[in-house]
Amino acid sequence: MNFDYPTTVRFRCIKCGICCGDTKEKNRHILLLRREAEQISKATSQPTSKFAVKIEGRAPYRYEMKKTEDGKCMFLGNNRCTIYSVRPLICRFYPFELSSYSGKYRFLYTEECPGINSGQVLGEAYFRRMFRLARAKHRPTTDSSGES
Ligand code: SF4
Ligand code: SF4
Repeated sequence: MNFDYPTTVRFRCIKCGICCGDTKEKNRHILLLRREAEQISKATSQPTSKFAVKIEGRAPYRYEMKKTEDGKCMFLGNNRCTIYSVRPLICRFYPFELSSYSGKYRFLYTEECPGINSGQVLGEAYFRRMFRLARAKHRPTTDSSGES
């Protein structure tokens, strides 16, 4: 697997909930793949339109999660994710993201997250697992729409 990752960064989630909504500095876009929206819809027995809006021009993402009036993801409850087992990739990755440039993949991270620089160094196995997860999630679907 061909990717670079931050070899010295330490991280431990302190469950502050910052990544689940807007902050003074950031209007957060919680983007969803079509299959993620479908999974959440199934798990919550709600139509996709209840919790997400369709978006254009952000492929491979097809939806953006709706937020409450106070700018939080509508699935955040008591500072916890209420759809944890089907939360989108973007949430699983945070505070990291995978960028690609000239055929090379690289994990970046944001220091917005207060869990950065606490906990342990994550190491290659952690990033390899995330890389595999991203590849599996972005695998093309076999339906005729070609959406993923
Ligand atoms: S901002 Fe960082 S520490 Fe806070 S909940 Fe999100 S991942 Fe965890
Ligand atoms: S889906 Fe869960 S983890 Fe993702 S932003 Fe919403 S509450 Fe947070």
